[in-house]
Amino acid sequence: MVSQLFSTTLVGVEAQFVRVEVDLASGLPGFHIVGLPDAAVGESVHRVRSALRSVGHPIPPRRCTINLAPGDLRKEGPRFDLAIALGLLAGSGVVAPELVTGSVVLGELSLEGDVRPVRGVLNTALALRERGLKRLFLPHENLSEVDWLDGLELWPVSTLAEMLELLPSGAPRVERRARRGEPVEGVLDLGDVLGQEMGKRVVQVAAAGGHHLLWIGPPGCGKTMLSRCLPGLLPELEDQQALEVLSVASAMGQARSDQLTAPLAQPHCHISTPALLGSHRPGELSRAHQGVLFLDEVTEFARDGLEGLRTALETGWVEVGRVKTRVRYPARFQLVAACNPCPCGYAGDEKRVCCCSDHRRLGYLNRLSGPIRDRLDLQVLLQRTDLRESWRGKDRMTTAQARQRVLKARARQLRRGCLNRDLSRRFFDETGVIEEKALDYVFDYASQKFLSMRAMEKILRVAQTVADLDGQPRIDMEQVQEAVHYRCLDQQGW
Ligand SMILES: [Zn+2]
Repeated sequence: MVSQLFSTTLVGVEAQFVRVEVDLASGLPGFHIVGLPDAAVGESVHRVRSALRSVGHPIPPRRCTINLAPGDLRKEGPRFDLAIALGLLAGSGVVAPELVTGSVVLGELSLEGDVRPVRGVLNTALALRERGLKRLFLPHENLSEVDWLDGLELWPVSTLAEMLELLPSGAPRVERRARRGEPVEGVLDLGDVLGQEMGKRVVQVAAAGGHHLLWIGPPGCGKTMLSRCLPGLLPELEDQQALEVLSVASAMGQARSDQLTAPLAQPHCHISTPALLGSHRPGELSRAHQGVLFLDEVTEFARDGLEGLRTALETGWVEVGRVKTRVRYPARFQLVAACNPCPCGYAGDEKRVCCCSDHRRLGYLNRLSGPIRDRLDLQVLLQRTDLRESWRGKDRMTTAQARQRVLKARARQLRRGCLNRDLSRRFFDETGVIEEKALDYVFDYASQKFLSMRAMEKILRVAQTVADLDGQPRIDMEQVQEAVHYRCLDQQGW
């Protein structure tokens, strides 16, 4: 007799359905799992056998075949344990097959029959809704990921024994929870940053126009603190964006119960490339999806990691090679990078002496490849602030106050159709939004610094954001000069 239920496996962040077929036939006792399982799936045999014995229903002494279909899709991890156990129980008549047929089952088993959490429960729930299926058996620890979704019949279980007890009495009552945001770890308030008035202004410009940003400055000048203020200035996530963020978190196995604000990822510069880009689960680039990626010491990241970063900036995806296939993870984020001005950190410092040769200094910044630099609309040189002055500074703008201005500036942009980061040359051409004198200034600057047309467009985009932030209908001299000020890589010696 063959019993049938479903489970899922993750391909990228999509949950793909896997049909779990259990056949108990007469013949020499044995246990076989077929259908392209990896080593962890193969080891299910031992976990399922012990778990079933622990609830008093050992595997019957028959020839058991478990087929995970479709056979050409690779199955990974221990997530099929519970489905296999349930299939065996239905196949041997312990559980009435009609109670479980057509259900989707997720969960790893311990040897004592405890049900352990798995990755991708939210992704599975979303796939279920799409396919019109309802019943989902899931580890109790994963419940908070999905208990706000409606249209599903949820069966959270902690142990195999609990599941056997629940099954005849019908679906358990699960409290539906209203959505509520969790604060994002590591995000700071602008009001907590002392001094650095220009830096604070730049963070607001970056937030308003969605511009990618590079800080160059000596150690301890506040690059990290300022960067960690950025997510707090961004608008709340829309429903679809929030779902994407939560799906990535679920696929990473770091499920959050909810997310209303932009996420922040800040990987260390010595992170391995698979952990940065993703491998069998999404990496840090994807953790920043729909939010902010902060790369401190950006020149110290491995070259292939930066190469992946470049692709993500261009396409919004990272693609990584897996066994015989390639998977894509979403990675559309706002980049904030930071580095020292030179290997020793003190080039351009008024009080300390830099001990690096010109050659070393140039080589250091050149580790950031051209295509990445090209995407950094804002390149800002920060100096250390005078401690006494910043300590006494009273009039500190908080994130809440700055955010109001940022949201207003964004609303203005969206009425035009897109964020300023994506404005084209044609927009400036057709609307004549820029004063003639200001445009001349930009032309002069561009020819003096041998800039490309692309670089010139970037100056205009940033100037447009400055105008939006200040509520100016047109771009004039003041705004283009401010935009030019945020391009330190054009200056001599970089
Ligand atoms: Zn130096």
